Amino acid sequence: MALLMLIFTKISELTGYLSQINAQNKTVGFVPTMGALHDGHVSLIRYSKNTCDYTICSVFVNPTQFNDKSDLDRYPRMPEKDAALLKNAYCDALFMPLVNEMYPDSLLKENYDFGYLDKVLEGAHRPGHFNGVAQIVSRFFDIIKPDKAFFGSKDYQQVMIIKALVKQMNSSIEIIACPILRDPDGLAMSSRNALLSKEERTTASRIPQIMKVAKNLTATKGIKEAKLFVEQEITTVPSMKLDYFEICNADSLNTLTELTSQISAIALIAVYVGKIRLIDNVELN
Ligand code: AMP
Repeated sequence: MALLMLIFTKISELTGYLSQINAQNKTVGFVPTMGALHDGHVSLIRYSKNTCDYTICSVFVNPTQFNDKSDLDRYPRMPEKDAALLKNAYCDALFMPLVNEMYPDSLLKENYDFGYLDKVLEGAHRPGHFNGVAQIVSRFFDIIKPDKAFFGSKDYQQVMIIKALVKQMNSSIEIIACPILRDPDGLAMSSRNALLSKEERTTASRIPQIMKVAKNLTATKGIKEAKLFVEQEITTVPSMKLDYFEICNADSLNTLTELTSQISAIALIAVYVGKIRLIDNVELN
């Protein structure tokens, strides 16, 4: 249990701390975040603390993964609150670098190739997003060299991308996918929920309800009916706009047209509530 949490903004200071940990042969768990932390993030810290000797969390709003500048500008930032929350969760160290610490040579990008994985769903709707994610996560991995890194299954496709990334990096870092934490009404916790007005927050609670009905419909009437239901349901709410709803093979993200017992399936949604884009997913079998 950490009695105090160290806060680093410089890579050199963080690596100094890490070399002390390495000298003791202790394991390091890493939880990368963009801040505005909630219980979903804290659950990742807990998973890390349960299996690793030291837990390091990063808070960094990564500019290269935003394909929409206004989304980046309005992304919630609350560093003091984040630090207090992490300290309460007994996180050992917080790394919160400035942009030029992580990108000293401008924002020029490496180009990753994730094949089909990067061409669908979030990849198709947010061009360049996963390239930016891979860029920053690989930098963090190179600096921290954790034994394990913890990611939320809310960003289901992101976990698949990160697993592909560590393969490409020839890295032995273990990627752990953790369950989605939800508010009592079922809405997946998200930093972006803080940007919703009271009315929008009420509207957003329809997302898990719609996903639940869609899951049942998939089982009883089939995928086509379920997709039609989601499209029609969201059209009836003026402040909601569907970005995508797909039912996919959970291992490949190939779109499915029917459920079979041999294939694990997952329903994934991205939907705007007002200007705020929210994502969610539910496993189907
Ligand atoms: P973010 O700060 O949104 O980039 O998220 C940082 C990490 O927290 C990612 O691995 C997310 O998938 C994870 N995360 C975000 N929301 C949740 C949630 N509701 N439950 C569990 N993990 C989450």
